[in-house]
Amino acid sequence: MSKILHRTIHANLPLAVGGRGIEMFDADGKAYIDASGGAAVSCIGHGHPEVLAALHAQLDKLAYAHTGFFTTDIAERLADRLVADSPDGIDYVYLVSGGSEAMEAALKMARQYFVEKGEGRRRHIIARHQSYHGNTLGALAAGGNEWRRAQFRPLLVETHHVAPCYAYRGRLPAESEHQYGQRVANQLEAKILELGPHEVIAFVAETVVGATAGAVPPVNGYFKKIREICDRYGVLLILDEVMCGTGRTGTMHAFEQEGIVPDIMAIAKGLGGGYQPIGAVMLGRHIYDAFASGSGFFQHGHTYMGHSMAAAAGLAVQDIIREHRLLDNVREMGELLNRRLHERFDNHHHVGDIRGRGLFRAIEIVADRSDKSPFDPACKLNVAVKREAMARGLMVYPMGGTIDGVRGDHVLLAPPFIVNAGQVDTIVERLGDALDASIATRA
Ligand code: PLP
Repeated sequence: MSKILHRTIHANLPLAVGGRGIEMFDADGKAYIDASGGAAVSCIGHGHPEVLAALHAQLDKLAYAHTGFFTTDIAERLADRLVADSPDGIDYVYLVSGGSEAMEAALKMARQYFVEKGEGRRRHIIARHQSYHGNTLGALAAGGNEWRRAQFRPLLVETHHVAPCYAYRGRLPAESEHQYGQRVANQLEAKILELGPHEVIAFVAETVVGATAGAVPPVNGYFKKIREICDRYGVLLILDEVMCGTGRTGTMHAFEQEGIVPDIMAIAKGLGGGYQPIGAVMLGRHIYDAFASGSGFFQHGHTYMGHSMAAAAGLAVQDIIREHRLLDNVREMGELLNRRLHERFDNHHHVGDIRGRGLFRAIEIVADRSDKSPFDPACKLNVAVKREAMARGLMVYPMGGTIDGVRGDHVLLAPPFIVNAGQVDTIVERLGDALDASIATRA
């Protein structure tokens, strides 16, 4: 009997004993294609010799130095690399141990920025429904996924939520995508005016929505409008790229495809590719300067922030992505994956939408394509899809998201950036079989 409190107590989980490239192996010798990168984490695959060598070398030198006493060469090099690979306006890095920690730090940084500037009356955070920003209480409060929040609501600070940019369900028939994007973005302005423009700290959003709704990209022009509104009222824009960032959509940061730059952003999963737990907040010079010319101190910190082993993993993974030109493969294989998904599911009665960017793709499962109604949540289709996929040696990330207040289902795919064309074909083939088997079993 396991002594671990697992996420799902009654799940009978296979025992993972190894991983190589895009495959993982269990104790029975069964291989699984890691088509979800775990949860969009594994970006260069498993067991990469160059990362292992970098980790060994770092361990030989120094495993850990507390950031209250020292900076380290490895953390400085990682920060330099991340800034060098980012557009102008992203100038500094704050290293933490994961996505929730990064989002907590981002929210507190935004609040302290205004305190430093003498605008301590700013106290509201605005985010979006159907978003996920982490499971710690601050990040959970910002998130808009009611399923995750419901039982903890009494512990959450008040935040405000506006509509997501989710064209499949939100766009009106008479609207163009652009008009739809402008309409939902305008909800942010209305909310800022309602709360009082001088009382709002920040607007928080995932650039491409991940776990809650399944690889939902914004429509063209949406984030430009959001940036404009934030600027008009001096509200900070915080982008959560914990899942969609560090190359997953085909550019280093997903926001680069939107023609905007956030004030503060969070990255994590693909930063260390799963080799070590690591996340980061990245910020503009104006944020840094407010701290530098004010208290000189960001009132935050965690024991393991800037950990040398984590920084070594992050730097090695980012070096590999750059040196092996893996973002080219993300774009090329991403297009192929999109084509294959369309070939397999365009005429499928229960696939309502196929969407995403780069190697961050999803299908949305519906009971009826004509009215987009989801399956009854009681049949737990997402659980069945995961089980059927695992039985076929395929790891995918199915979730029951909250859609229009109803639990719906989608399946997220986020294979490592090294995936090849043959593997893309196998992923889609196995996914199709797993989906059909799940629906048949349910019926
Ligand atoms: N933000 C987003 C968009 C995420 O997808 C996640 C995790 O799935 C988090 C934050 C939280 O990251 P972590 O699980 O590393 O704490």
